[in-house]
Amino acid sequence: MKKGIPLKKDFSIKLNSQITKYLTPKYIYLPLQEEDQIHAKIEIKKEERISDRLISPVSGQIVGTKYCLTENGEMVKCLAILNDYKETFWERKAVRKTMNKISLEKMLIEIQEYHYDDLFNKLKKMNESQILILNGIEDEPYVANEIFIGKEYTSNVLESLDALREIGHFPKVQIAIKNNDRENIEAYSNFLGTYPNIELVLVPDYYLIGKPRFLKAYLNIQEEALILSPSEIRTIYNTIKRRRYNTETIFTISGDGIENPQIIEAKIGSSVKEILNSHIKIKKNETIHIQVNGLMQGRSMEIENLIVTEGLKSILIMKDLKLPEKKCVNCGKCFAICPMGCNPRRYLKTKDPKDIKDCIDCGLCSYICPSYINLRKVIKGEKNE
Ligand code: SF4
Ligand code: SF4
Repeated sequence: MKKGIPLKKDFSIKLNSQITKYLTPKYIYLPLQEEDQIHAKIEIKKEERISDRLISPVSGQIVGTKYCLTENGEMVKCLAILNDYKETFWERKAVRKTMNKISLEKMLIEIQEYHYDDLFNKLKKMNESQILILNGIEDEPYVANEIFIGKEYTSNVLESLDALREIGHFPKVQIAIKNNDRENIEAYSNFLGTYPNIELVLVPDYYLIGKPRFLKAYLNIQEEALILSPSEIRTIYNTIKRRRYNTETIFTISGDGIENPQIIEAKIGSSVKEILNSHIKIKKNETIHIQVNGLMQGRSMEIENLIVTEGLKSILIMKDLKLPEKKCVNCGKCFAICPMGCNPRRYLKTKDPKDIKDCIDCGLCSYICPSYINLRKVIKGEKNE
């Protein structure tokens, strides 16, 4: 397995240095699942439970349902809430003075109460891990959520990491960031004197190095590791220290098709179109192409009915280069670049699943193909659709 691959990037795409807040949407749309039994009244308060699983990010009124699009391309029925802009809380629990006194069991119960299932499943294995790593790396080009969370909430991230170190009895903690991420290097370095058991590890700007298995390979870590991102750490901080539910989330709107790339903090359930209309300037006379959740691993989408969910990481608005797909020229580049040893070229012809058995959907084969064949789509189509 390769340890990551450098990608060509357009360094003229620069993000605004501040996070833009979009916290006053008129409506909030929350995706419903079959098992949701709505037990709230019409009037709803912020952080009130609407069903066992759903929690309201605003106070206001439940006004009906509407079909909306989520970042994975599905149209789903959503509960619509009209925001009254009062932010009246359902319940405010007292902030905990310290986090390190809580037991792992208690922490797991509180994380589970808010249905942070992926985080719960990671933390549940904390006792099996020998090392704790903060993974502050963004793999996808032009996306910077984790980088901004690291530099905006450095002290909260470090406080939470140090508490986790004590709770999990980790001898040390590593923070992995890219060696060209100057702002985070400076932000963490300013605090590390206070945390002698936390160390900074710099990694090259290679694609895939932010994926746990590649990061572990690069750092030469053989043992079990608990690897958390700054956004996961922020969720732990909000839940355990502030005792609050995440009513907002952070994502990137970027690309060479707009004049003002930026990081957005928005209420979960907001309409993406409203955010674009109020904050983003599309370049004039450009035909654009929209890619949700990354150039390499995301999907091309119409965003008319797209809503903000915790799974939304980025919206890239790129100039549409209209590169026509041509015939395979048997150059072998897709095979040579694949970090998992798959053979996309042969798969095109054979459709033999063995040729792509270990595919991790990284998109490198499509990225490198001189014939602009969307190999990733072909592979995904065969495997997933
Ligand atoms: S998408 Fe799959 S086949 Fe293509 S390079 Fe990545 S791992 Fe290999
Ligand atoms: S990179 Fe493209 S053109 Fe080259 S072998 Fe693979 S599919 Fe064919």
